[in-house]
Amino acid sequence: MTTPKNTGFEAQPYYGICTFGRQPHTRDLTGVDVAVVGVPYDGSTSYRSGARFGPRAIREQSLLLWGYNNALDVAPFKAQKVIDYGDVDVVPPDIVATHTAIHDEVSSLVKEGVKVITLGGAHSIALPLLRAHSHKYGRLAVIHFDAHPDTWDTEFGEQKYSHGTPFRRAIEEKLIDTSAYIQIGIRGPTSGKKDYEDAIALGARMITIDDAMRMGLGGILGEIRSRVQNKPVYLTFDIDSIDPAFAPGTGTPEVGGFSSYQILQLLRGLKGLNLVGFDLVEVSPPFDHSNITSILASNIVFEFLSLLAVNKQPV
Ligand code: MN
Ligand code: MN
Repeated sequence: MTTPKNTGFEAQPYYGICTFGRQPHTRDLTGVDVAVVGVPYDGSTSYRSGARFGPRAIREQSLLLWGYNNALDVAPFKAQKVIDYGDVDVVPPDIVATHTAIHDEVSSLVKEGVKVITLGGAHSIALPLLRAHSHKYGRLAVIHFDAHPDTWDTEFGEQKYSHGTPFRRAIEEKLIDTSAYIQIGIRGPTSGKKDYEDAIALGARMITIDDAMRMGLGGILGEIRSRVQNKPVYLTFDIDSIDPAFAPGTGTPEVGGFSSYQILQLLRGLKGLNLVGFDLVEVSPPFDHSNITSILASNIVFEFLSLLAVNKQPV
């Protein structure tokens, strides 16, 4: 009888300790191309909380990823050095202190040229992530998948920072190149017509789910490319852009969204763009069923890693 070698992708998904894709948990940045970073913060959610458990659940389901992306013909864990950096220290009752911690930690990685994929957490965390990336790359093109524009001015009265406001704040802080800001998958009942009008007035190119279905996947990708061109682009991905039938584990579900297949096709279509950073937010495991949302989320992160790996390959 031989003893199985319990390392890397030779390990079965139910073995061992969870890091993203079984990559080494380290903060040594020597030779590192990509760091997966968790931000277990959901203090800014307006409805159902629980996204603080997102990073852990996504890591656990990532053990199902076997390593080779057939659609993009790349092995993202082999083509580049990926680490699991662990989680940012968050301060649940203090969103400003949490934002500072996220900014400082992620800046230290981005500054070194490491590409960061952040696992949320609520969408409020996009603001300090955009700050950190903008310091390095200047004003960013932003591809924003979401059911919601997240461009409210305030929430709960005077609250400037919440998961409903990060993109208005980011535009005010001049972190986003609004000529290259595109929102995809917007839908659902809102507090009024003004929600969408405000987002568009701020400069967002809004592709609602109705627009998306009319345009088709090729049309959406063409619109993204014509907006973003070769600018440094940050991809912010709210899991609620996907239909709750495929991603029920989220805080503010909206019916009538993308299927998981459509989303994978859209992400693969971003191949070759100058992608400099990613987040995946609003996965809320307490509302998930059979881990389907966190399985999907781990596969989306695998697509992010694959896009970075494809870009790294010589052409
Ligand atoms: Mn959002
Ligand atoms: Mn949303």
